[in-house]
Amino acid sequence: MGRSRSSSAAGTRLFVTYAVASPVPVLALGAVLAQGNRRDGVERGLEYGRAQAAVVEEMAIAPALHGEDLALGLTDDERRRLQTATDLAVFRGSVERLRLRDFGGGVVFSDDGFLSAGAGADAGATWSVPATDPAFAAAAGGGTDVTILRGDSAGRSIRVLQPIVADSSGRSVGVLEILLPYETVAAEIDAATVRNYWRLGAGLALLYVVLAAISWSSTHRLRRQAARAAHDALHDPLTGLPNRELFRRRVDEATRRSASCAVVLVDLDRFKEVNDTLGHHAGDQLLRRVAQRLGDALRSDDTVARLGGDEFGLLLAGVSNPGTAQALVEQVSTLLSAELVVEGVPLTIEASFGIALHPADGDDVETLLQRADAAMYHGKRGTAGVVVFDPALESAPTPHLNIQHDMRQALDAGQLRLHYQPKVDLRSGRTSGVEALLRWQHPDRGLLEPADFLPAVEQSAVIGPLTEWVLRQSLVDCAAWTAAGRDWTVAVNVSARNLDQPDFAGTVVRLAAGIGVPPERLQLEVTETALPVDLGAAAQTLATLAAAGFGTALDDFGVGYASLSHLRSLELTEVKIDRTFVAGVGVDAADGEVVRSLIQLAHGLGLTVCAEGVETPAAAAWLREAGCDRAQGFFFSRPLPWPTLPWPALPATGAPDPGWHDLPTPSLEMTS
Ligand code: C2E
Ligand code: MG
Ligand code: MG
Repeated sequence: MGRSRSSSAAGTRLFVTYAVASPVPVLALGAVLAQGNRRDGVERGLEYGRAQAAVVEEMAIAPALHGEDLALGLTDDERRRLQTATDLAVFRGSVERLRLRDFGGGVVFSDDGFLSAGAGADAGATWSVPATDPAFAAAAGGGTDVTILRGDSAGRSIRVLQPIVADSSGRSVGVLEILLPYETVAAEIDAATVRNYWRLGAGLALLYVVLAAISWSSTHRLRRQAARAAHDALHDPLTGLPNRELFRRRVDEATRRSASCAVVLVDLDRFKEVNDTLGHHAGDQLLRRVAQRLGDALRSDDTVARLGGDEFGLLLAGVSNPGTAQALVEQVSTLLSAELVVEGVPLTIEASFGIALHPADGDDVETLLQRADAAMYHGKRGTAGVVVFDPALESAPTPHLNIQHDMRQALDAGQLRLHYQPKVDLRSGRTSGVEALLRWQHPDRGLLEPADFLPAVEQSAVIGPLTEWVLRQSLVDCAAWTAAGRDWTVAVNVSARNLDQPDFAGTVVRLAAGIGVPPERLQLEVTETALPVDLGAAAQTLATLAAAGFGTALDDFGVGYASLSHLRSLELTEVKIDRTFVAGVGVDAADGEVVRSLIQLAHGLGLTVCAEGVETPAAAAWLREAGCDRAQGFFFSRPLPWPTLPWPALPATGAPDPGWHDLPTPSLEMTS
C-alpha cells in the first residue's frame, strides 16, 4: 500500500516535470514560427510596393514618354502628359511622391516640380536617394529596390527605385523613384499577421495539451506497470501469496521493531505423491486450496507466504509464548487437514509445522528460519506434526536440503556403494539374478540406506547422474561375476524421473554395449507408486528398453492407485509383488488370496512374478506352491556386496548348481 502510494507520487512528480519542461520547446517553436510570420508580413509589404510601382511605371509613365534617354531631357509633350498622370495618381492617393531620373542621377521630372542636373543631393527630399546610393545603381542596372521608410507623423511609406522602360523603344531610359503610401496596406498585412499569430497560438496550445495528455497517460501506464512488476517480484504467481523474499522482509521488519512473533515453516506431507499420481494440474489446485485455508485460519495481521514447492511460511504477530504458538498452529493444522476434493479425488492434507519464536529462539531472520526448519524436520521424522524449536533439536542430523548438494559431492568422492540381493528361482532354488540396492558410505553419518537420501535426491536433477552411476557400476559388477562363473542377471532401480529424461533408453543401451553385458542380463525396475498418471514419456522409454531386449519390472506392485492399468499400458517383463502382501502369505488368508490372484493375473498377461520381502521359509514355500516364479527377501539373503553373497560352490564333477541350500521342502500344511 505504502509502496503504491510512493510510486504514484513519483509518477505525479514525473508528470509535473514534464508539464513544466515541455512549454520550452513549444515556445521556441512558436518564436521561430512567429519570426517567420513577421518576415512574411514585411515581404508582402515589399511585394506590394514592387507591384504598385510596376503598375505606375507601366500604366502612367512609360506611355507618356517617347523612348529617348532621359538624360537628353523631356519634351514639353512628355512633361505635360507626365504631369497629368502624376497629378491624378497623387490626387487619388495611390502615389505620394514621384521622380524620373536619368542614369546620371539628375532629376528630369518631379511631382513637385523640383529638377536638377547631375547627381547633386536634394536636401529637401529625404526620401530621395543620391545617385551614389547602391539602390540607385541597382535600379540603373535594371533591378528594383524596395524599401520601407519610417516616416514622420504621416506614417510609413514605401520607396521603390526601378528602371523606366519606354513603350516605344522597349529600352531602359532612366530610373523611376517613387514613394507609395504604406499605412493602409500595412494595416491589412498587420491584421493578417495578427490572425496568423492567433492561429499559431491556438495550434501550439493544442499541441501542448495533446502532448501533456500523452505524457499523462504514459506516466500513468508506466506507474501501473512498475507497481505490477514490484508486486510480482514479491509474490508467488500460483497462489498470489507473498513469496520467500517478502516473507523474509516481513520477519526482518518484525525483528527490527523488536516485536514478539512466531515464525512457522509448513511443509506438506506426501505432496509429491499427489503431483505424481494426479498430475501437476491437481498439484497446483491443491497448493491454491492450501494457501486459501492457511489464509482463512490466520488473523488479519499475520502473514502467510509460499516459500517454494510445497513449503509455506507463517508469521504470527504478537506471539511470544511457546504454548500459545503451539495451540494456534495446531488449530491451523486441524483446519488444514479437513478433507478436500481435488479433481474428483478426496484428499486429506497433512503437514509438518516447525515454530521458532522471536526473541526467545533468535533475533534475526536467518536464525529464526533455520530454527523453524530444524523444528519442522524434527516433526517430519517423528510423529508430531507441530513442533516448537528446542535447542536440543540443533544436534539433529543434516536437514533434507543439504542432501542434494552432498550427493553431488558423494558421486565425485566415490562414497556410493552397491549391495546386491539375490532373486531366487523358486522352482530350482538357484539364484537367477540379483537386485542392485544403493548405499551411501557417508563420512559423518555412516552407511545410509536409500530412505535416508533418495526422496530428496529424486526431487532434483542429480538423480540423472546418480542412476547413471548405479547402471555403470552394476554392469561392471555383472561383467565381473560373469567372469567368475555366475550367470546372474542384474536388476537396477530407476526413478520415474529418469524415464522422463530425453534419451534415457539410449544411455542404457550404450552403457550395456560399452561394458559388454548383453541386454537380457539387465533388468530395469520402476516403482509403481512413483509413476505419474500421465505415463507418456515413461511408457515410451520402457517400450524402447523392452524392444532392445532389456528386462522391465514393475516394482512394489499392488500398493499404487492404478496398478491394473499400468499392467496393461506398460511394456513389462516382470511384476514384483510388494512385500506388504507377501508378509501375510501363509498367515493371513486375505493376503494369500490377493497374492495368488496377482500371480495368476501376471501370468495371464505373460509376465513373470517376483515376490519381495520373503522373510520366512514358510512364505518361500507358500509362494513356490502358489506358482510364483522368483522370490527375494531376508530369508535368502540381506543385500550385500556381491563377492560376499551366498553362492553354493559347484561340485567338482561339474554337475548343475545344487540350488538354494536352505530352501525348505514345500509342505502342504503351509499352504492355506
Ligand atoms: P525395492 O526396489 O523395493 O528394494 C527392496 C527393498 O526391500 C530394499 O530396501 C531391501 O533391502 C528391502 N528388503 C529386501 N528383502 C526384505 C525383507 O525380507 N524384508 C524387509 N522388510 N525388507 C526387505 P532398500 O535397499 O532400503 O531400498 C529401498 C528402496 O529404495 C528400493 O525398494 C528401491 O525402490 C529404492 N532404491 C534402492 N536402490 C536404488 C537405486 O539405485 N536407484 C533408485 N532409483 N532407487 C533405489
Ligand atoms: Mg526394486
Ligand atoms: Mg520393491
